[in-house]
Amino acid sequence: MESRYDIDGRMGSKTVTMLKTLLPYDPPRWAQGLKNIPKTMIPLSPRGDDKVRMINPWNLPGFPKQFEVFIRREDATGAAISGNKVRKLEFLLADAIEKGCKHVITCGGIQSNHCRITALAARELGMTPHLVLRADIESEADVGCEGNVLLNRMCGAHMYMVPKLSPYLTELKPRMEKLAESIREKTGEESYLIPVGGSNTLGVFGFLTVFEEMLPCIPWITDIVVACGSGGTVGGLCIANHLTGSKVKVHAVIVCDDAKYFHNHVNETLSELGLTDVQSEEILDIIEGYKGRGYGLSTEEELEFIMDIGASTGVILDPTYTGKAVRGLVSELQNNPHRFRGNQILFIHTGGTFGLFDGRINHLLKQRNTPNSSQIHIWTDMDDFINPS
Ligand SMILES: *Cc1c(COP(=O)(O)O)cnc(C)c1O
Repeated sequence: MESRYDIDGRMGSKTVTMLKTLLPYDPPRWAQGLKNIPKTMIPLSPRGDDKVRMINPWNLPGFPKQFEVFIRREDATGAAISGNKVRKLEFLLADAIEKGCKHVITCGGIQSNHCRITALAARELGMTPHLVLRADIESEADVGCEGNVLLNRMCGAHMYMVPKLSPYLTELKPRMEKLAESIREKTGEESYLIPVGGSNTLGVFGFLTVFEEMLPCIPWITDIVVACGSGGTVGGLCIANHLTGSKVKVHAVIVCDDAKYFHNHVNETLSELGLTDVQSEEILDIIEGYKGRGYGLSTEEELEFIMDIGASTGVILDPTYTGKAVRGLVSELQNNPHRFRGNQILFIHTGGTFGLFDGRINHLLKQRNTPNSSQIHIWTDMDDFINPS
């Protein structure tokens, strides 16, 4: 397999790159001593537009006045291929291309953002996506077309429904391996397996890159807060924070599992990167208590919160990760302010908006009646008086 498969075309005097290019990866200076550094990456998100990468003040309601809250939009890195998983896939899919794989297999919940982004990006790069999805679904007809599933269908992803409570190591991983084997038998083609959430050592480099991009803003940030589901995102951030000697405190609001699980995950990553002088417990604050009814499930209060934030700031949070994380952030700022290193707080929006399109919030939106909620007018005659109260 050639490592470059771009075509340069001519438009006037400008050279335009027509296809995606596998780029050699050069880690930031502070990461050059690590083990297992990837050799290539493939840009999936729009680059060169610093506006979407900037840190902006966020007029989030309800936090104590001594704090200032900022937001970075990792959700706004593209249209359908958007969110934090993009950053991991830039390394993972480069590896898949280098290995000459024709298929990509990954797994997650039925509304997994990671699976949706992987499927779309795999198609964009000419590979066939296979998704092993956790859901209690008995027949094909029950799968529906909602939220992320609509986009999975739009790009022709193969979807395999498995019992909702399947654990990763004993159920999902062996099933992905079995699938790869049967694809190989049937087609002679190789598959690339991506673990749940894309959280392995390669994926972590995506968030070392994000930290490097944020470095100019880091001196005036005291705390970074991010949602955590498989640990790769926060792992990358706290490791970069440690390596750069930045004095930021990194906090993860977890939406599943527990603190011990994520510290173990980050400790494994540290050892795979050859960092033996530091422990996750010293570089990462894990915030528990905001899972609500459990992974992927919402309470009415959580959905009300998401609607409030949307209507007061124009930022749309997702029900599974960022909605819970920001709720946790506001509550900790109110009730536990000393948990933070200072008062300049950065929240990284990790995406997931399509999860809102699965119908769960519709009935609440329709009956909502707050000062800033939608007003619907049936305006038949132009001359009628409208009272846009
Ligand atoms: C996956 C995901 C997260 C969590 O990231 P991890 O690296 O898996 O911990 C946060 N927000 C959104 C929207 C996600 O899809």
